[in-house]
Amino acid sequence: MHNIIEKKILANTITLLKVEAPLVVRGARPGQFVIVRLDEYAERIPLTICDMDKSRGVITLIIQELGRSTKDLCALKVGDRIRDILGPLGNPSEIEKFGTVLMIGGGVGSAELYTVVRALKDKGNKVITILGARCKDLVILEDEFRKLADEVLITTDDGSYGMKGLVTDALKSLFERGEKIDRIICCGPIPMMKAVTLTANPKNIPTVVSLNAILLDATGMCATCRCTVAGKTVFSCVDGPEFDGYKVDFDELLHRNKRFLEEEKRALES
Ligand SMILES: Cc1cc2nc3c(=O)[nH]c(=O)nc-3n(C[C@H](O)[C@H](O)[C@H](O)COP(=O)(O)OP(=O)(O)OC[C@H]3O[C@@H](n4cnc5c(N)ncnc54)[C@H](O)[C@@H]3O)c2cc1C
Repeated sequence: MHNIIEKKILANTITLLKVEAPLVVRGARPGQFVIVRLDEYAERIPLTICDMDKSRGVITLIIQELGRSTKDLCALKVGDRIRDILGPLGNPSEIEKFGTVLMIGGGVGSAELYTVVRALKDKGNKVITILGARCKDLVILEDEFRKLADEVLITTDDGSYGMKGLVTDALKSLFERGEKIDRIICCGPIPMMKAVTLTANPKNIPTVVSLNAILLDATGMCATCRCTVAGKTVFSCVDGPEFDGYKVDFDELLHRNKRFLEEEKRALES
């Protein structure tokens, strides 16, 4: 059982929970995730470890309400308990001195980059962050990123805050001002990650994407999260979640992630 010790509403449908998980946090590294199960009968929900406090044994989860399970999770209060937290899972992010690293987050994907930004800064990189959201109310953790990163650019689809447009427009503006970028790391909706790789491709900048394939057991056994990367089948849970964006078959991933839509709709209505 894992106690919830802090809860913060970050945006209309996005909630931050700090949860006691001393055994998970002990070996956790930036870029890894956990599988959360609210109770014995609940669905398994993969969530990134958005921050970690090793001395207190606490992890931070940031959850966007999408369907039944994330709604139930966001409804929990301080003092409530989560039955299972399995992790740390997946491969940690590669943290090296790359030079200038551009971190691009879309929606809740921004939160998933937070520990990686801190680790890259600690290694001496210059870090520029682009945070993209549909509108001002959905921009999260701006102050936290401003404290860490060398520069933060905000884009909103409707222009209610920051630059009007998509994260790729901010990326193009960096190219236009002649910014030399050595690596891009991107986390967000699948069409966004595809668009970022297509925009970065002509400049041949190494571009890493964090895939959100539907996954269940997270041990490489069930194959639910299989994706095609460089023409080969990989399991996002154990081979990823980060991959070379130029080699990912995004269209297949998008198609596979829609395969439980009917069941998800029924679960939300029940
Ligand atoms: C490695 C990884 C890290 C993630 N980190 C975060 C995070 O930090 N914060 C966050 O808000 N979300 C994160 N997600 C996505 C999150 O797991 C899904 O939004 C959640 O499982 C949806 O469950 P639901 O019942 O609320 O919605 P549903 O109605 O069941 O599904 C809504 C949509 O969520 C996705 N989804 C559903 N089940 C899964 C599943 N088992 N695995 C992956 N995606 C699923 C599908 O695209 C689906 O169409 C992550 C996903 C992965 C794979």
